[in-house]
Amino acid sequence: MNTSSEHSDLFDICIVGAGMAGATIAAYLAPKGIKIALIDREYTEKRRIVGELLQPGAVQTLKKMGLEHLLEGFDAQPVYGYALFNGDNRFSISYNTDDSTNHHGVGLHNGRFLQTIRKDVLKNATVTQIHGTVSELIEDEKNVVTGVKYREKHTREYKTVNAKLTITSDGFFSNFRKDLSNNVKTVTSFFIGLVLKDCQLPYPNHGHVFLSAPTPFICYPISSTETRLLIDFPGDKAPKKDEIQQHIADKVAPFLPEEFKECFANAMAENDFKVMPNHYMPAKPVLREGAVLLGDALNMRHPLTGGGLTAVFNDVYLLSSHLLAMPDFNNPKLLHEKLELYYKDRYHANTNVNIMANALYGVMSNDMLKQGVFEYLRKGGSKSGGPITLLAGLNRNPIQLIKHFFSVALLCISNLSGKNKMSLANVFNIVKDAFCIIKPLAVNELRPSSFYKKNTQH
Ligand SMILES: Cc1cc2nc3c(=O)[nH]c(=O)nc-3n(C[C@H](O)[C@H](O)[C@H](O)COP(=O)(O)OP(=O)(O)OC[C@H]3O[C@@H](n4cnc5c(N)ncnc54)[C@H](O)[C@@H]3O)c2cc1C
Repeated sequence: MNTSSEHSDLFDICIVGAGMAGATIAAYLAPKGIKIALIDREYTEKRRIVGELLQPGAVQTLKKMGLEHLLEGFDAQPVYGYALFNGDNRFSISYNTDDSTNHHGVGLHNGRFLQTIRKDVLKNATVTQIHGTVSELIEDEKNVVTGVKYREKHTREYKTVNAKLTITSDGFFSNFRKDLSNNVKTVTSFFIGLVLKDCQLPYPNHGHVFLSAPTPFICYPISSTETRLLIDFPGDKAPKKDEIQQHIADKVAPFLPEEFKECFANAMAENDFKVMPNHYMPAKPVLREGAVLLGDALNMRHPLTGGGLTAVFNDVYLLSSHLLAMPDFNNPKLLHEKLELYYKDRYHANTNVNIMANALYGVMSNDMLKQGVFEYLRKGGSKSGGPITLLAGLNRNPIQLIKHFFSVALLCISNLSGKNKMSLANVFNIVKDAFCIIKPLAVNELRPSSFYKKNTQH
């Protein structure tokens, strides 16, 4: 094995993975004069079904970092809220419950967005682009991470990069999270993705959520002519080809509103499905000198609520704010303190995003609670306005989330009397189901720092 140290320079930061997290933090830090080595195994545009809906919280954080221009120039679409469908009933909720705010999300092609971010990063003279696959973290005799070893794509040679900080943002199949965390990931379900072309959405520029089917499915615009349809396939085993067709025929087609029938039939005829696992992985980082986790390598949640990039950008901003508060990268003790603060602060930023994603997925898989959510949101006012700001990633107060969650459970209980089903057993079942959904999430995600913003100076 040939290990040559081509990069004799000492970088401030080495970023493993130029995906959504790695490229975005490079785009934010590089113009500030920080010397960065950016490594990815592939720089060509990918066709992915992930990260295509940015909630307003993600858009707002991009704006805070001065990076909102990266959403321009590739036919991304504004998203103004959600529409919910249940049987013959439908209604929409705006992200802006009154005229005092102007929040919106964005629907886009993830591959095009990522290429735009990367192009912006590579304009900076402070960035060295490396095309290769990282194989290991390098440590000194005190176990401090001092850089990485990688195999260069074109020469197939093994080389090293030395840096004062290594950010591992190598995505959901991360090779390095085992060195930097005690994370345990579980597959909650799969998403089957297909593209509907030239579909006139009943609520243009809105996310659409369909609740009548046994398992949820959602859609949203990703360009001016394309709509992404994501269909949940429950369980931890990926669907086989024939299972995909069967699942869609039984559990999606009969529940699609009339407006979708033609574009859906055309999409089915194209037979171009993509399947991705949906993970839940609470963050359990182990503080280690010289290295830090970012993005899906650190933390994952169910994608039903489109919260992934809200959390990723929150983390990019928090970690960057702490790093930028240092005069330079030459004080390892100070750097270590900053990494510790980042891991603490991110609870406040991401607790609601994480709980909301998996709690809503749990609720959607429970008939009684699902009906309760639909009716609760349909009441409007604070009953729709509160939950939509939580979903949007704009409200970080966990008390609000817990309040709305249990209000839905109470509504389900009060509905029992209307249906002549009021009995101790039914009440008990609703309360038990609600607790079974929320308790493990609260244990994993809630910390004292979830409730207040303590360490950040911004
Ligand atoms: C089905 C699905 C749908 C989703 N939809 C949404 C959505 O609508 N909205 C939303 O906000 N979030 C969504 N998410 C979540 C979101 O996509 C992720 O949170 C986000 O992409 C994570 O970014 P990342 O940078 O951590 O990982 P990635 O974007 O996957 O980047 C990882 C990078 O690391 C590189 N890499 C990996 N290993 C190595 C190595 N050894 N050496 C060099 N390079 C390496 C890869 O090539 C890649 O470029 C979805 C997730 C799923 C599964």
